[in-house]
Amino acid sequence: MRSIDGYASVHGGSGVAPWTFQRRDLRPDDIAVGIDYCGVCHSDLDALASAAQGPARLVPGHEFTGTVTGVGTTVTRFAVGQRVAVGNIVDSCGTCAACLADQQNYCHAFPTLTYGGVDRHDGLPTQGGFSEEYVVREDFAYTVPAQLDPAAVAPLMCAGVTVWEPLRRWQVGPGSTVGVVGIGGLGHLAVKLATALGARVTVFTTSPAKADAAYLLGADDVVLSTDDAAMAAQSDTQDLILDTASTPHDMTPYLRALSMDGTLCSLGITGRLEFDPMALLIGRKSLAAAGSGGTRATQELLDFCGEHGITADVEVLPMAAVDEALDRLRRNDVCYRFVLDLNA
Ligand SMILES: [Zn+2]
Ligand SMILES: [Zn+2]
Repeated sequence: MRSIDGYASVHGGSGVAPWTFQRRDLRPDDIAVGIDYCGVCHSDLDALASAAQGPARLVPGHEFTGTVTGVGTTVTRFAVGQRVAVGNIVDSCGTCAACLADQQNYCHAFPTLTYGGVDRHDGLPTQGGFSEEYVVREDFAYTVPAQLDPAAVAPLMCAGVTVWEPLRRWQVGPGSTVGVVGIGGLGHLAVKLATALGARVTVFTTSPAKADAAYLLGADDVVLSTDDAAMAAQSDTQDLILDTASTPHDMTPYLRALSMDGTLCSLGITGRLEFDPMALLIGRKSLAAAGSGGTRATQELLDFCGEHGITADVEVLPMAAVDEALDRLRRNDVCYRFVLDLNA
């Protein structure tokens, strides 16, 4: 076993504290990754809150980039010194229909999560990227395009692939109209990626103050979702709407904004969905949901971002300032993603 320094949940507390824990020695198909940058995701807040209720400690962090520091005996895709990225899934059964379709995120036997999961082979809990080193099967590590800033690549691994998969699934391209509800961590990447795919992008926001930022990200239109007349004017306009809002809301106005056969894809489900079924029926519309990404789509996203020069807009903080990042994320005081620098 290898001793690793990281930051973990604290029983009864809301933040994290330094903690030394063990990772496995490399198996033949493993690589060791010295972590350089780790994004801070909303899921980290939820995981820390529930971990704090029990005695077991949890190291969050499931979108990170780093440098290969060791390779197992059968590894073929990576060599020591190479820059790699890891997302929120680190293993899956490999044999079910979802895995065979490169949708390991929907593995019927449940994918192994980067933290808060259980390793399929040794039964030990997985611990995340708020730490100096990770050990991962090479099949769940990805090549980072050399021209991209590795700090700003980290959020692509969770927020990025979560919006990328639906954009690809519903074949967004030139001539498509795409709506994006909310422009936080997920939404700002949805705007950049949909724009780069050639779509006309409309941002729906509750905050007039965010309009300028949305245009800067590449949005063609910005609609204030609290303005009923502006929303009614959007009827039958969008082929696909990605709903990234994390607070419960009525989805009916967005269903109405879809064109015939359009799809509203929810990416921030936090409770029961509320909508008028008639808004689904009229125009034969679809309501869908998605989360995370498979291995093929994840590498495809990184390659696409390399070609188009796309990364997340990030605020980089030293690892020791992790509690500040968590506190500010809780208050939504971030533009658009915090990334922790493990070497600072
Ligand atoms: Zn995440
Ligand atoms: Zn599977």
